[in-house]
Amino acid sequence: MSIESGVLYVVATPIGNLGDLTPRAEQILKSVALIAAEDTRHSKPLLHHFGITTPMLAYHEHNERQVMDKLLQRLREGDDIALISDAGTPLISDPGFPLVRACREQGVRVSPVPGVSAAITALSVAGLPTDRFVFEGFPARTQAARLKQFEALQDEQRTIVFYESSHRVLVSLQDIAQAFGADRLVVLARELTKTYETVLVDPVGKLIEQVRQDSMQQKGEFVLLIAGYSRTQEDGLEPQVERVMRILLAEMPVKQAAAIAAKLTGEKKNKLYQQALVWQKESS
Ligand code: SAM
Repeated sequence: MSIESGVLYVVATPIGNLGDLTPRAEQILKSVALIAAEDTRHSKPLLHHFGITTPMLAYHEHNERQVMDKLLQRLREGDDIALISDAGTPLISDPGFPLVRACREQGVRVSPVPGVSAAITALSVAGLPTDRFVFEGFPARTQAARLKQFEALQDEQRTIVFYESSHRVLVSLQDIAQAFGADRLVVLARELTKTYETVLVDPVGKLIEQVRQDSMQQKGEFVLLIAGYSRTQEDGLEPQVERVMRILLAEMPVKQAAAIAAKLTGEKKNKLYQQALVWQKESS
């Protein structure tokens, strides 16, 4: 009789507030034979808080390959295992991908126990469009690579989500200003679900000043969200020019309005015309 293999449960844990561990996660963590944890010391207080006494084994990026074989063997022998990371959902900028892939290749069942993830949590409160977004993980550590990374995203229209650490949050904001312009709207979501949770929303130039002046804003954990590129925002008209153009548009066809507004304001006729088309498209 062949032994049926165990299940690898990929379990999300809180990103701050312990109340965010789901009842199902608690029950699974209590019932499995083993918990593979990114950092066993880090996860101890969480398990202790919930009275979970399941044995733990360290599974992190430096021992991922060696430990993976052990875990696969236990799973094949029929043991259920829970994979957790230090916070949030495993595999999302966290270890676990090789293990999940190996399980799938070897026919071992992998089952999610979903919960919080910092990126999604930040998106839910940022006030930026969420219908489409891109998750970019952590920005590169060196300035040259970081700038290159940001510059490649200059024309990205979807909301851009980054993770960032306290050591580099200010330099990353400065590089964002350089690559995207100081007017690009950025959201800095800090210490989500924790005591000092703050969500700052401002053009990045202004945000840099705020973070510089208040050193508390450089402490903790961050999700950095960059508003996607929008023609109206980036290439927009001066407010007074826009006002003239909108008044004329209410009275006459686009071409005529652009011609008169160009004479009145000195703005290029074609730019006024193109902008009016964007407005028309947005309001249709
Ligand atoms: N797997 C995790 C998840 O699902 O969110 C992310 C792990 S990644 C190594 C850790 C990063 O997530 C932190 O450096 C920070 O950028 C972000 N993060 C985690 N907790 C956060 C929190 N409470 N508030 C803001 N950002 C957080």
